[in-house]
Amino acid sequence: MTIFRLNTPFMGFFIVLLLGFLSSTQAFATLQLSDEMSGLTLTAKTHVIEDSQRELSIDDILKMDWSEFQLQKDYKKTVQGVSASAWWVMFEVENQTDSKIDWVLEAVYTHTDFIDLYHITEQGEVKTSFTGDKRPNDKRLISSESYAFPFSVAAGTHEKIVVRFSYEKAGMIELLMRVWDPIAFQNHQSISYYLFGGLFGAGLFVILFTLIIHIPSQLPAYYWYLAYLLFVLIDGLANTGLGYRFIWHDSPYLTDSAHILATTLAFIFAIQFNRVFLQTKQFMPRADRLLQALLVITIIAGLSYIFDYRALSIKLILLTGISLGIMPLIGLWAWKVLKRSDARWYVIAWAVWSISLGVLVGRLMGLVEMSDTVLWASRMGFLLETVLLSFALIDRINVLRQEKLTAEKNLIISLESANSTLEEKVLARTVSLEKARQAAQAMAETDVLTGVGNRRYFFSRGEDTLKLTRRLGHALTLVMIDIDHFKKINDSNGHAAGDDVIKHVAELTQKRLRSTDIFGRIGGEEFAFLLVGSGLDEAVKLSELLRKEIKSTFVDSPLGKITFTASFGVTTVKLQDEGLDASLQRADQALYKAKHNGRNRVECH
Ligand code: GH3
Ligand code: MG
Ligand code: MG
Repeated sequence: MTIFRLNTPFMGFFIVLLLGFLSSTQAFATLQLSDEMSGLTLTAKTHVIEDSQRELSIDDILKMDWSEFQLQKDYKKTVQGVSASAWWVMFEVENQTDSKIDWVLEAVYTHTDFIDLYHITEQGEVKTSFTGDKRPNDKRLISSESYAFPFSVAAGTHEKIVVRFSYEKAGMIELLMRVWDPIAFQNHQSISYYLFGGLFGAGLFVILFTLIIHIPSQLPAYYWYLAYLLFVLIDGLANTGLGYRFIWHDSPYLTDSAHILATTLAFIFAIQFNRVFLQTKQFMPRADRLLQALLVITIIAGLSYIFDYRALSIKLILLTGISLGIMPLIGLWAWKVLKRSDARWYVIAWAVWSISLGVLVGRLMGLVEMSDTVLWASRMGFLLETVLLSFALIDRINVLRQEKLTAEKNLIISLESANSTLEEKVLARTVSLEKARQAAQAMAETDVLTGVGNRRYFFSRGEDTLKLTRRLGHALTLVMIDIDHFKKINDSNGHAAGDDVIKHVAELTQKRLRSTDIFGRIGGEEFAFLLVGSGLDEAVKLSELLRKEIKSTFVDSPLGKITFTASFGVTTVKLQDEGLDASLQRADQALYKAKHNGRNRVECH
């Protein structure tokens, strides 16, 4: 006889505590029937025998003295784990009222293969009712997702009820039974249907929503998620009994196996989704190995189920389910350490999953009392998880879009900067070319010896100045200078000294002129300049000043000081003239006159 098993030291400790607490309040009891019973849990009033060889018959049970069997004191623990035994549950009911009482016994777990019900009347008559997963739906006395049996107990009678739970091979033993009055049971059923409608409607909505929202995204994680969703939904149908009742009751195999197969596939897709979504292979190799291991375990679970190692299969599935409780931690790592902001919904989603799973496991271990609230909380938890995962996916799309936009922006910025560097380079090149051009032009227009403008400079600038003064109506005068007896200077002092004299005259003249005046060396020892805005008198005055200055200065040479003079020819530039040629001719004539009249003088035309 086994009432419960001690799975872990912790569990053992807990149950001992619980036992100590409950033993004082629980006593051998008969269920007192009444007109108002709404989902009364029977557990505390039942006697349980594990028939591990499956050899006992109802006669053996009835011959036994029930008081020999301990009451099931740990009233929360209705799950006996995965077992191949037959489990007998016995209890007594009594109708102390003076009228007949109709009531309903409900065995809550929807996957038990065989449920044999024996109803022993006060006269010792045994009525039987056989149902379960492996038996046809129409054998059920009340149409319901769970197994429900109607009773009618006459006034003042005392009856025994024996229920045998078993599997063809092995399966989860959940002995939870509840007692209802017929009206309450009916109401409970109606409310359940509303909730089922809401649950599956929401599930379908999530699937449709996901289909519509994510198809354009083409994210690989999305396909795994969709597959996961689909099997969660199928699993939901299987676990609530609705799938059996409305969809696959003609398939004995699906009736028996849908919940295991759907769970296995949902786990496989969930694990794959996790791996792809978090990119564990790339960024979290250790977590990835763990998930791969879970994947292998789940696949082995599925295969062992198919090849009829059912106990092993169910244990492996439970192991995977519990192990998936680490998903929030992996998500947290991705969120906080790898800075994946889209992992936050993911963390919340799997945290909800873990809580739901925790409740489920707690129920299996007898830590949490089974109730509608607990049942629906974990169902809603799994639904909520799928919705939250969908948010995580949307977040992921946002992150990807953001990354794409940033990448595009960076590309544009880098293109723009490349463009502007190119422009800068072209500009710099243009500027340097322009400088070179200007330098070349300056070089071409500069007299090498004196550094002042040469003949080409004088004429090109002179023509421009003539045009400008013509437009402005300003006066313009032209002066030509020729150094006197220069040949002699060269002859007696050498060519280099002659050069120095030329340079000296250029310097003196340049100093006397304004920046707007145009000055150039137009021949060997000949210079010319244009005075802008000056009349003849002013030009003569300036020439006189210059003449005197030239005369009073000297140039040093190895042979001693060289003194020299120069002659000047001055003329007004006539603004109607085409170019400077006519003016130059006149200036030259004036210069000739100066030479003729004794040199070292200024003459006008
Ligand atoms: P005049 O008083 O009539 O002007 O007599 P001049 O000797 O100065 O005139 P002419 O034009 O006959 O002689 C000019 C001389 O200048 C001829 C040439 O050898 C010399 N000469 C021309 N260019 C240069 C030069 O760059 N350097 C030097 N040292 N002499 C030059
Ligand atoms: Mg000359
Ligand atoms: Mg001369």
